[in-house]
Amino acid sequence: MRIVVLAGGIGGARFLLGVRAVARELGAEVTAVVNVGDDVTLHGLRICPDLDSVMYTLGGGADPERGWGRAGESWTVKEELAAYGAEPTWFGLGDKDIATHLVRTRMLDAGYPLSAVTEALNARWQPGIRVLPASDDRVETHAVAELDGATRAIHFQEWWIRYRAELPTQRFVFVGAETAKPAAGVLDALAAADVVLLAPSNPVVSIAPVLAVPALREAVATGRAPVVGLSPIIGTAPVRGMADKCLAVMGVECTAAGVGALLGARSAGGVLDGWLVDSTDAGAAVPGVEVRAVPLWMTDEATTAAMVREALTLAGVA
Ligand code: GDP
Ligand code: CA
Repeated sequence: MRIVVLAGGIGGARFLLGVRAVARELGAEVTAVVNVGDDVTLHGLRICPDLDSVMYTLGGGADPERGWGRAGESWTVKEELAAYGAEPTWFGLGDKDIATHLVRTRMLDAGYPLSAVTEALNARWQPGIRVLPASDDRVETHAVAELDGATRAIHFQEWWIRYRAELPTQRFVFVGAETAKPAAGVLDALAAADVVLLAPSNPVVSIAPVLAVPALREAVATGRAPVVGLSPIIGTAPVRGMADKCLAVMGVECTAAGVGALLGARSAGGVLDGWLVDSTDAGAAVPGVEVRAVPLWMTDEATTAAMVREALTLAGVA
């Protein structure tokens, strides 16, 4: 069996641990197609937060408490940059992490596409799955927000980390998405897939920018593989993080049904055949989509693997 997973960073990475466990049981191949909307250049370094969360988590090098970055990290370079007054100071750049960004930036500057760079970095971490960026082109999430008395488009990282998602915000824009192509390998993976899973990642700034790449969305929406999503919202709260603030910008209700409707049924121009919601949300309905309620807390790899088995069952492939 071939499984393709669309994923963001931390939630996507935790989910992929469960997918990998199930795939090992089934002898299945897994390809993760990861959001690049958060990617940003700071201090001359190209940083891909979601790709790195997936790589470090599956490679066993992630910090388990913080959720992002490397375990056993130190912050000497960040402190030295701050001592120079070098902006920005709000982004957490660990010393070990910087080595990843140096290798990536150097390879990109030498002309390698991001997909090739990602493959090279993952060769060290051996994540046990194939990790692909959604696009080799620039697809950058910006928030159109009120700041210093004016309406400005600021990079999502600044909106999220520096302003803690608290600025009055009109909308999100995925800069470059319209002309972006899926990264090398993405369309082949989707064409060969037996099932496509949408990780319980932030629907607005992780899953939406992946699907904003036109040919990628088309391949998911019209492909032969069934598509099953898992709700990142349990009750009326994102389990971790601030996805509620992103949904509020979109005017979407922060519930499993609200997010399911945002993604929509494949039969009605959306991307879902099936939608898994948490047991507490049993009764949630999405027009045209088969909804099933199961426990959706990713407490550990075993509970996450159980979620993956439910998703494969709902898709009719296991
Ligand atoms: P990010 O890119 O690092 O922000 O991570 P993602 O977008 O991949 O995932 C973040 C989302 O995962 C959060 O908004 C939560 O809604 C969701 N999430 C986190 N933990 C859990 C969990 O245990 N269960 C479910 N269903 N969703 C979760
Ligand atoms: Ca992210």
